Amino acid sequence: MLSAYRAMEDTRSGGGALLVSHTLRGELRQNESMRRHCSWKAGGNMSRFYIPADLADLQYFLSQQNEHEPLYIIGLGSNLLVRDGGFTGTVVLTHSALSGIEVQSTPERELVSAEAGVAAPKVARFAARHDFEGAEFLAGIPGTVGGALAMNAGCYGAETWTHVFDVTTIDRSGQLHVRSPQEYEISYRHVVEKAASHGNPLTPLKEWFVSARFLFEKGDGIQSSEKIKELLKRRIASQPLQQPNAGSVFRNPQGDFAARLIEFCGLKGFTIGQAQVSPRHANFIVNLGDATASDIENLLKLIEHRVREETGIMLQREVQIIGEALQ
Ligand SMILES: Cc1cc2nc3c(=O)[nH]c(=O)nc-3n(C[C@H](O)[C@H](O)[C@H](O)COP(=O)(O)OP(=O)(O)OC[C@H]3O[C@@H](n4cnc5c(N)ncnc54)[C@H](O)[C@@H]3O)c2cc1C
Repeated sequence: MLSAYRAMEDTRSGGGALLVSHTLRGELRQNESMRRHCSWKAGGNMSRFYIPADLADLQYFLSQQNEHEPLYIIGLGSNLLVRDGGFTGTVVLTHSALSGIEVQSTPERELVSAEAGVAAPKVARFAARHDFEGAEFLAGIPGTVGGALAMNAGCYGAETWTHVFDVTTIDRSGQLHVRSPQEYEISYRHVVEKAASHGNPLTPLKEWFVSARFLFEKGDGIQSSEKIKELLKRRIASQPLQQPNAGSVFRNPQGDFAARLIEFCGLKGFTIGQAQVSPRHANFIVNLGDATASDIENLLKLIEHRVREETGIMLQREVQIIGEALQ
């Protein structure tokens, strides 16, 4: 049994979670470059960067933070840009720390339980190996479970939250909470806590995901593995996977495709500095080698402007941008 689940089980069995650690066992780094932690391989530094040892360590770390310290949790940075001036505050990395995955069996059901730092493709492969079906779409999403929950990541008609049985979250004081999907407003690439948002869809999450339990149908693992291979082939054929990128940078507007609109505006291949609208997939921005975050953000702004001018449609960003521009 994974050690991190002990704390979760304490929460489930009643009341607040126990803080089960009293010394920091993770790794705290100063001025860590985001280039090492995001798929664009670009961006500024994070003033404090913490890699927890496990969930109990993360709880203790959060409980020790000043209540005004800006905190940000990241997974694999596959949907993230930190501006060149960096992020002043503490960034916590879940990947490599919250890495447990297992099948939990009860008399009523079998659930796939995964911690937030588990890579989404690993969930797809794990589910197939245990004869579940429905998780295949996660195989091509190069983020973590936490990122997939925060973004309601999806593709080919499937979405993360469709399969969520419950999630465990952590608040900034380090307490754990078990939440049901009904406690969130969930839509296309968008998740907010109902209790915190008061109807405002732009409200940032107040609690972070530390794990999720997924309910998938029982099926044929061999068929699921075949489906995974098929989906990955489709991606390799259509996406610029050899160059650093962050997937689709804009959400698809209702009834249309951001890529179609960008291509319609003649922007395929358009370049600012070392950032380019991929000639292969117009909703991808690729790093040609040494792109700065500002090259990428300026290209995003230019696309937004041109698409609005030429089609009247205001594209909504899917990629998350934090930090300060270089002065
Ligand atoms: C080649 C490529 C293909 C992609 N294809 C798809 C696709 O098909 N469908 C799709 O939806 N996305 C796709 N993406 C985008 C990206 O992989 C997903 O959005 C993914 O879910 C992000 O996960 P992450 O761990 O990398 O999150 P990060 O980029 O690290 O973070 C993204 C956001 O999630 C938040 N977050 C991360 N972890 C947590 C947590 N534990 N608790 C709370 N908030 C958290 C961060 O604070 C941030 O706001 C693609 C990206 C690439 C590079």
